[in-house]
Amino acid sequence: MKTLQSFKARTGEPFGAPLLAHTPEQVDSTVEAAAQAFASWQASNGAARGSLLRALAEAIEGDRDELVSIADNETALGPVRLNGELDRTAFQLRRFADMSERGVAFEYLNDPAVAGAPPVGHPAMVLQRVPLGPVAMFSASNFPFAFSVLGGDTASALAAGCSVVIKVHTAHLVLSNRMLGLIQKVLEVQNLPKGLIGMVQGGGSDVGVRLVAHPLIAAGAFTGSTRGGAALQAVANARPRPIPFYGELGSINPVVALPGILQAKGAELATLLAGSINQGCGQFCTSPGVIVLLNDPASDAFVTQLTTALKALQPHAMLTPGIRQAFEGGVAHVATTNGVKVLLQEAGNAEAPRPFLAETDAVNFVVKSELREEVFGPASLIVRAQSVAEALQVLQAVGGSLTVTLWGAEQETDDTRAFVRGAMNIAGRVLFAGVPTGVAVTAAQQHGGPWPSSTQPMTTSVGDTAINRFLRPVCIQDAPAWLLARSGQPC
Ligand code: NAP
Repeated sequence: MKTLQSFKARTGEPFGAPLLAHTPEQVDSTVEAAAQAFASWQASNGAARGSLLRALAEAIEGDRDELVSIADNETALGPVRLNGELDRTAFQLRRFADMSERGVAFEYLNDPAVAGAPPVGHPAMVLQRVPLGPVAMFSASNFPFAFSVLGGDTASALAAGCSVVIKVHTAHLVLSNRMLGLIQKVLEVQNLPKGLIGMVQGGGSDVGVRLVAHPLIAAGAFTGSTRGGAALQAVANARPRPIPFYGELGSINPVVALPGILQAKGAELATLLAGSINQGCGQFCTSPGVIVLLNDPASDAFVTQLTTALKALQPHAMLTPGIRQAFEGGVAHVATTNGVKVLLQEAGNAEAPRPFLAETDAVNFVVKSELREEVFGPASLIVRAQSVAEALQVLQAVGGSLTVTLWGAEQETDDTRAFVRGAMNIAGRVLFAGVPTGVAVTAAQQHGGPWPSSTQPMTTSVGDTAINRFLRPVCIQDAPAWLLARSGQPC
């Protein structure tokens, strides 16, 4: 049996006792238990789903001090951020509890019979939705609570009536096992099967690939790198029966800052943007990785202001040595790419890296696809455009992003309309103020965008409509009265 070891993110020392990786047979039996649990959970009512989700929120809040302390050791994200993330995770669980109790998963469309010949005449039809089945859920390294064991994917899948098998992230093994203990107590108290929320741990194909490939798994929900997501999506597609794979991936989140607003408040915006690039040591999928500026004296001043503001900041330790190594490698690659001018590059120390800022022109950025790859960490690339047309080509070259931020589009002009169109064509969320880091859990949230930011641009992994990923529409035609009386609830 393979063993797994957790490490302290700040020092690299071992943290906690070694743990056993799941064997392929254990992965199979965890999925089988999830399939058995699904058989009853799919027919559960909104009150039962709400009650489970509320109890899970209470359980993590009740164990807050220990959970935050473990998470801080394993991730170095700090207690302020981690307490906030735990609050957000409990909020998210309760929000899906509210939605369950309101019967959102059971909403249906009634299309009464119309007499006469088709195409006008038709039978009585009702469009309702059924849960997909057991969901394989992959935790992300950078959100140990909100995109991990009891994060938005698990909450929305349970609210939809699905069971879940969690693939633990190797970067927070001890935390995930502590969470599993809390989950199992809640399931026991509520008299629910253990298999409703199962968990597997271990790297690579023995666990992750086997999980997605398992014939009883009905969908995948993944938050992580574009490379990892692409590999697992290929597994989902190569199955004899392919399944939906909802991958929330990496993103470079362009910020377009127009000269007018930079002239008015460039220094303030530079401080705000530097804080966003440095936040969480840049380990956010919404971190601003590209800043698009038009050639103008206000843009020149902004570049100086941003460089100064970023130089004054010190990022904290990164999540894992592997992520640190990938960051240093990514920065070195950008810095040595032809046509790139480095503005800020300093050696970090053993604990943490330094922020990185460089500049290139639009033509170089459009031609070199490697400049459009996410550098996960506190790094950003300024792209100078000679014209609005060139700036729009930059957005088009990005192709897909979770966000685009547009600063200075307050007046309607041909140019601002073109920028809004260009931004909406490639992003799931377009911001006109503030910075892209920070993703509100709300009704109108859209956290997902065209490839490479997600595998399913029509869906979101954050916000209320995340539940739709795990519900499949079914039309029932001329249904018997007893079935109609279930008002959209699966039987
Ligand atoms: P990652 O390396 O892709 O890992 C994510 C998960 O997938 C882990 O459980 C990992 O297993 C597993 N995995 C990766 N490749 C695999 C493969 N080929 N076969 C089987 N399993 C595989 O990502 P990460 O470093 O944890 O997270 C950082 C990335 O996530 C960044 O790119 C960031 O932008 C992105 N992110 C996106 C969002 C979003 O909402 N779009 C949110 C947060 C983060 P192991 O445990 O073995 O490593």
